[in-house]
Amino acid sequence: MTADAMTPTQEATTQSFEADVSRLLHMMVHSVYSDREIFIRELVSNAADACEKLRYEAIAKPELIADGAPFAITVSLDKDAKTITVADNGVGMTREDLTTLLGTIARSGTKAFLDKLAAEDAKSEAQSLIGQFGIGFYSAFMVADEVVVETHRAGSEEAWRWSSDGKGTFTIAPLALDAAPTRGTRVILHLNAESQEFLESWKVERIIREHSGAVAVPVEFVAKPGEEAKRLTDGAAIWAKSKSDVTPEEYTEFYRGLSGQFDEPALTVHWRAEGRHEYTVLAFIPGSRPFDLFDPSRKGRNKLYVRRVLITEDADILPGWLRFVRLVVDSADLPLNVSREIIQKSEVFAAIRKGVTNRVVQELGKFAESEPEKFAKVWEDFGAVIKEGLYEDPERRDGLFKIARFATTAHPEGGRTLADYVAAFRENQTAIYYLTGDDAKRLAASPQLEGFRARGVEVLLLSDAVDSFWVSTAAGFDGKPFKSVSQGAADIKSIALVEGAKAPAEASGEVATLLAFVKQTLESEVEEVRASDRLTDSVACLIAPEFGPDRQLEKMLAAHGKMTERTKPILEVNPTHPLTVSLAARLHAGQDKALVEDAAHLMLDEARLLEGGQVDDPPAFAARMRRVLEKALG
Ligand code: ADP
Ligand code: MG
Repeated sequence: MTADAMTPTQEATTQSFEADVSRLLHMMVHSVYSDREIFIRELVSNAADACEKLRYEAIAKPELIADGAPFAITVSLDKDAKTITVADNGVGMTREDLTTLLGTIARSGTKAFLDKLAAEDAKSEAQSLIGQFGIGFYSAFMVADEVVVETHRAGSEEAWRWSSDGKGTFTIAPLALDAAPTRGTRVILHLNAESQEFLESWKVERIIREHSGAVAVPVEFVAKPGEEAKRLTDGAAIWAKSKSDVTPEEYTEFYRGLSGQFDEPALTVHWRAEGRHEYTVLAFIPGSRPFDLFDPSRKGRNKLYVRRVLITEDADILPGWLRFVRLVVDSADLPLNVSREIIQKSEVFAAIRKGVTNRVVQELGKFAESEPEKFAKVWEDFGAVIKEGLYEDPERRDGLFKIARFATTAHPEGGRTLADYVAAFRENQTAIYYLTGDDAKRLAASPQLEGFRARGVEVLLLSDAVDSFWVSTAAGFDGKPFKSVSQGAADIKSIALVEGAKAPAEASGEVATLLAFVKQTLESEVEEVRASDRLTDSVACLIAPEFGPDRQLEKMLAAHGKMTERTKPILEVNPTHPLTVSLAARLHAGQDKALVEDAAHLMLDEARLLEGGQVDDPPAFAARMRRVLEKALG
């Protein structure tokens, strides 16, 4: 490398923001936030992160904090200069850090965020989204027409000054060490004309107390230059306090910082595990769904501390099906002087994982019992995720069955437990019946349910994608097997009809002949055609053979390319339906064979449509439909 190539870094350089950052800044300046005061919370939160990072680095390199200064964040106002400054003595940033961390958006979610915001109606959501996407630093541009970052990376001999007006470019220049913080970062905002209110000390003080009270580094406040710093928050770790010393508001504020969501937690659990391993846990069930709940690349946001030192923000503490839970674990037993990876491979960590998971499941169960209405909302938000556990974690299945809630034919609004279901078994009922599909409304209208309704037999209506998987692998609940109503024989004849219900009757001889004819006609498309004991109103439905996947599971496997050859379904026909009876009579009289053939095909297509499928051959379908209509119209 030539000397020339090395020197430019010592001079001021101006670079453009990455295109996405520019878009984002433009939105910030034109304020997508209604609530601009949150920029303070965002900057304090970054300052605290920087302190926690250095605390961790200093385990291996104690010389980084040899100056002995305790970690602190200072917010100061200067009315003459019209600035508000957030300073920390954390890790600081190198020149490269400044370019990549403050000039580009490395996060995968950011593009999605921008796209979401571009949608006209998403403006109101911006506030709740912004924290989740982790783009807090740019919120400074809502209130400032210039932002300056003076930073000194701990352990480095260089310091830098980053500045920008947020209009497309930023400049980085070297900063003399005596003008720079000893270690850490100062973020100086030159407040714009509309934001002078943030020079009022009472206001800024209130904002800090309100939004940054639970930050794990003390926050100090300097109301004007030369004035002594006043400590506003103690920086004590909220999880290390005893429950009685924490107010609900403090829990909520901490939850918001942890999750980046601005709702109220639905459930807060704070406990200390003692015994073989000692650790403290503060866990929250969010009050609403995070935007990326179903994004496969989504990381948990669970923080692991060892004796108050933050080891990692995305510790793998909970299984994927509890990925919506936000928590902090602080352990006294894990080693500090080894890498993050080694810590997370240790036996102690495995024991913590297990202990925390058990407790969370147990707490969910208690919550479901003591506050069923609040739990209903949790289930609505996260039930589809928790149900992944029924499939992935068979040994926890019984525990999860206790909290799972379902929509059923008798309770289409949901909220039914399996225990309630079993308690309402009809005499001679031997199985827990279910129907899977992807649309809850259509499910409830499925012809397959008619015979069950006629006998007062409740059927679980399972419309989440994961349902098909757990229900086909679960052995049963309370000794009762699960049985799909769209598969195999219904076997419900021995259950008495409810009063006034139509009985599915036996097929007459004429109908038997018709069914044989239909079978012949649909030879290549169906496995079997038979009289149904599960239809009372509809003329036909499709059923999967007794063994193998049920109709919905097969559809899903096929959609994922996991099944190349699809099994042929069984067409069940209602033997007493007027249509069946008159077709049988015509066939018997030897009339209109062609019409009966058309009707057979149409029956099959109708059954396909009713289960959310498609007709196989639309032109042929249309031609048949036309012929039958012409005939009817004479
Ligand atoms: P997030 O905090 O979610 O990562 P931000 O937009 O708030 O997103 O900050 C972007 C990045 O800039 C941070 O991840 C951090 O690496 C860096 N950063 C911001 N403020 C500071 C600071 N005071 N000290 C050190 N690094 C900082
Ligand atoms: Mg941040």
